[in-house]
Amino acid sequence: ETYAANPERYQDAQFRRCGKSGIQLPLISLGLWQNFGGADVFETGRATLRRAFDRGVTHFDLANNYGPPYGSAEENFGKVLRTDFASHRDELIISSKAGWDMWPGPYGIGASKKYLVSSLDQSLKRMGLEYVDIFYTHRPDFDTPMEETASALAQIVRQGKALYIGISSYSPDRTRIMHDLLAAEGVKLFIHQPSYSMLNRFLEQGLLDTLGELGVGCIAFSPLAQGLLTNKYLNPGADKTRVNSGDGSFSEKLLSEKNLTNVRALNEIATKRGQSLAQMAIAWALRDERVTTALIGARNVQQLDDSLDALKNLAFTKDELTEIDKYAVD
Ligand code: NDP
Repeated sequence: ETYAANPERYQDAQFRRCGKSGIQLPLISLGLWQNFGGADVFETGRATLRRAFDRGVTHFDLANNYGPPYGSAEENFGKVLRTDFASHRDELIISSKAGWDMWPGPYGIGASKKYLVSSLDQSLKRMGLEYVDIFYTHRPDFDTPMEETASALAQIVRQGKALYIGISSYSPDRTRIMHDLLAAEGVKLFIHQPSYSMLNRFLEQGLLDTLGELGVGCIAFSPLAQGLLTNKYLNPGADKTRVNSGDGSFSEKLLSEKNLTNVRALNEIATKRGQSLAQMAIAWALRDERVTTALIGARNVQQLDDSLDALKNLAFTKDELTEIDKYAVD
């Protein structure tokens, strides 16, 4: 049926400025890595996207190879853009990336100019867009000179195929170098996309300070540790959808007794705060203002609704943070 966006979608929505830029991002953003591909049920994904927009989520994060199969998340998102969001394009921040393997041969992976430029052209076609709002180099590529990557990204901005540039999973040192190379091209590095959760605190070991200093935004991916920081693995009958998904990104090792013991303790703290564990995990990832937005995934509307309710209680007492630190360990 036809979609009419909720007229009150911005009423309770909360935004944070992305680094030193003109753009504000919603505190919670939705990623389409999993659950939105050709192998998934299209209408479930569509309902989740509609619900997100209806609740003030204005940022959707994609990449060339999200699916499976590769490319299909962008195709599905393109369909929803055409059918449901056509009149809302200018309310949306849409991102894509290239870096991981996409097509066979040496030009379908990495951070060469050849790959970044051609991959973005393919992404734009799949989504039916003239430009993306943010384009990322998806990972550091140690075999490509950073000058080449920076000049490709700057060209993409000059051609109007992306408005802003992001990098993902770069170390603090490489972040600084890329920031300076882009600046020399007249382009401001807009955002960094690192992983960050109560079970993965690498961001706190220097990277967040670097981003704050450079005025670069930060979008924290997998704040729920792919579902581990929710109540789903606490009951014995949990469906291990991710663990068994076969792409190897969620190893069974994450479900170690040590991790599960910590997750149980964190769940109790969340209960005392009157929140679900997912909600507390998201609020925690946002406790430092230099983290612009928490980038979550959701299998369906129910998970999304639960996670978005994190916004109802974002504040932590000092005691709560100290208690959480006992269990929030890598
Ligand atoms: P999360 O840590 O938010 O994990 C999402 C998963 O957690 C869901 O698929 C679901 O698992 C479970 N879940 C979510 N909400 C709830 C809830 N309320 N209650 C119970 N379970 C819940 O993030 P993702 O790992 O999915 O990553 C989010 C986004 O980050 C990606 O879509 C992508 O855009 C980006 N990303 C970027 C990377 C990069 O290299 N730059 C790498 C990884 C992600 P289940 O499906 O099993 O039910």
